[in-house]
Amino acid sequence: MPLLVMKFGGTSVADLSRIENAAKKVQAEVARGYDVIVIVSAMSGETNKMVGYVEGTSKLYDAREYDAVVSSGENVTAGLMALRLQEMDIPARSWQGWQVPINTTSAHGSARFIDIPRANIDAKFAEGFKVAVVAGFQGISAEGRITTLGRGGSDTTAVAFAAAFGAERCDIYTDVDGVYTTDPRIASKARKLDRIAFEEMLELASLGAKVLQTRSVELAMRYKVRLRVLSSFEDTDENSGTLVCDEDEIMESKVVSGVAYSRDEAKMTLVTVEDRPGVASAIFGPLADAGVNVDMIVQNISEKNYGTHAGAVTDMTFSVPVNQVARAQKAMEDARAAGIIKYDELISDTDVAKVSVVGIGMRSQVGVAARMFKALAAENINIKVIATSEIKISVLIDRKYMELAVQALHDCFELDKA
Ligand code: ADP
Ligand code: ASP
Ligand code: MG
Repeated sequence: MPLLVMKFGGTSVADLSRIENAAKKVQAEVARGYDVIVIVSAMSGETNKMVGYVEGTSKLYDAREYDAVVSSGENVTAGLMALRLQEMDIPARSWQGWQVPINTTSAHGSARFIDIPRANIDAKFAEGFKVAVVAGFQGISAEGRITTLGRGGSDTTAVAFAAAFGAERCDIYTDVDGVYTTDPRIASKARKLDRIAFEEMLELASLGAKVLQTRSVELAMRYKVRLRVLSSFEDTDENSGTLVCDEDEIMESKVVSGVAYSRDEAKMTLVTVEDRPGVASAIFGPLADAGVNVDMIVQNISEKNYGTHAGAVTDMTFSVPVNQVARAQKAMEDARAAGIIKYDELISDTDVAKVSVVGIGMRSQVGVAARMFKALAAENINIKVIATSEIKISVLIDRKYMELAVQALHDCFELDKA
């Protein structure tokens, strides 16, 4: 039997009528002759609510218990979706992560897949079941504890199942009708793309475009999964939405294909750290050990004999997700108390955002950064940190200018035009 994976995000299963609407899309594929693995998210808002419960109970919480709590939203929607399908006379069964089992690492809160044995679900299909409804976002560790894959992780569950079961396609149903040049919620001129290259989607996702979780794109690229993003609220067919595919399946390629943003950034500066070999490792080692995801890093040139300091000193600035600031502060204070590093002050700026432009065309075009900085300057937006790679340029700016910056960059690179 040919097999499809269909994933429904939080807004697509937000209440019973939306679950019914999603179930009808599954019914249509079953009618076309497919066995279907449905991956569901929690009802929209539920995961946030549970994260709030955890943070309200324990500031530096035990990640095992965080996972025990926040994974539960998907259990509810998986059971409800199976029930709705049964009401439509479609033989369906729900699966929680441990029942499949979805084996993951023990990195609670950001676990990775180890393997997904097919036997249990295959046996159910062989019995005549047409649909397996799997709770997204969760798995089980070797210690037998529930794990979660990081926010937005149901996308990754979907792609991993598509790879493990050799699905014909992995369809990600969401509240927009595809991948846009930027978030259509903040730029009305955003244009839907028919196709986007894996590499570009990977950068956009990792720079904040939450339409797909980064890891899902990585897995799709590695296992050659045909990945599509489409609307659960519209009538769709096999040409709907955006196909994420290899670069050589795309005809037109602009220098910049998309603009991404992330509001959840914070800028931290260690003032007057010693400037000596090993100091970066003394800072970023403890941060990594504390599970802090450092993104952009800037080290100032050294200032010799600054103030009362005997040797050369410098400032080290880095960005971290805003919800990891407390963890990062503690890691730095502990490292200072243990004599691993010295610094005068740690300044945290939580009112920043990261805005990035992405495009594979940048590999062969010069002057992209200059155009970007000029467009931001024209709007009087000050750049606090810059980071570049082969196909992206990111800047950290004051959060209040984030939307203006996205729109200005969208205009500057004429992304509204095909
Ligand atoms: P789901 O709950 O279905 O997983 P998400 O909220 O995680 O949905 O992702 C969909 C959202 O991603 C859209 O509503 C949109 O606001 C946002 N988004 C950000 N960047 C983009 C983009 N470039 N194209 C499409 N959507 C985007
Ligand atoms: N419910 C989880 C979250 O909100 C996983 C997902 O929806 O993909 O992050
Ligand atoms: Mg999502």
